[in-house]
Amino acid sequence: MILENKVALITGGAQGIGKAIAHELGRHGAAIALVDIQTESAQATAEELKQQDIACEPFVTDVVDADAVADLMKNVVDKMGSLDILVNNAGITRDNLLVRLKDEDWDQVMAINLKGAFNCTKAAARPMMKARSGRIINMASVVGLTGNAGQANYSASKGGIIGLTKSTAREFASRGINVNAVAPGYIETEMTGELTDEARTNFLQNIPLQRPGTPEDVANAVKFLAGPDAGYITGQVLQVDGGMVM
Ligand code: NAD
Repeated sequence: MILENKVALITGGAQGIGKAIAHELGRHGAAIALVDIQTESAQATAEELKQQDIACEPFVTDVVDADAVADLMKNVVDKMGSLDILVNNAGITRDNLLVRLKDEDWDQVMAINLKGAFNCTKAAARPMMKARSGRIINMASVVGLTGNAGQANYSASKGGIIGLTKSTAREFASRGINVNAVAPGYIETEMTGELTDEARTNFLQNIPLQRPGTPEDVANAVKFLAGPDAGYITGQVLQVDGGMVM
């Protein structure tokens, strides 16, 4: 139980990668603050965790709303006792070629993927600095490193996440807070379910380990970065991509 007595807040925890992270951190002893914008699936996932004897509270919050996020962090500390691990996982795609990309698709992706992580980091930093310890894990993507045709908005947001990770790692290091990013490759979730068959085949042809990743593959990396074995690691981007980008 390497995460016993830790409280982990996971944004976008209702489904996909976030849900797998909630299960994995919970399985290793963490109490889970499960944050999502979808009320019903957040509650359903929280119930699922409780049935496995994992302490879990669902919180319905839009990560874009800075005031709501500030209240959320206060509520989590009041209700659950502390805030030790923050996983900035909520994210969306609105793919299109740049010349067809609508302003609102650019703005929405940047707001949720990048500003959302900023809002949560800023609000979580206060209790973590006070405790002089904490772990922040940001969900980037390999396309934040390589770029991807049809994903200018999404890759820019994920490249931004990498910059946010490195800057906050430097700012928070003296306060005992480690900040790292995980960059998944092609992981099968509802998000990638929207891809065309052609895009899926294209991704699979470029994976040396010859299979798509699972949400659990990503959750394992997050558990490592959240746990005691990663105490001397900060400002890093850990790729979980079957070797797609190297
Ligand atoms: P998903 O769409 O299955 O889940 C995303 C979750 O985020 C949903 O539960 C959704 O309700 C929640 N969410 C969306 N907007 C929100 C908001 N404003 N406030 C709070 N919650 C919000 O996606 P996923 O595949 O599980 O992706 C999770 C993260 O991993 C994302 O940041 C994504 O960019 C990243 N990622 C995914 C892949 C992949 O192949 N699936 C690859 C690289 C990176």
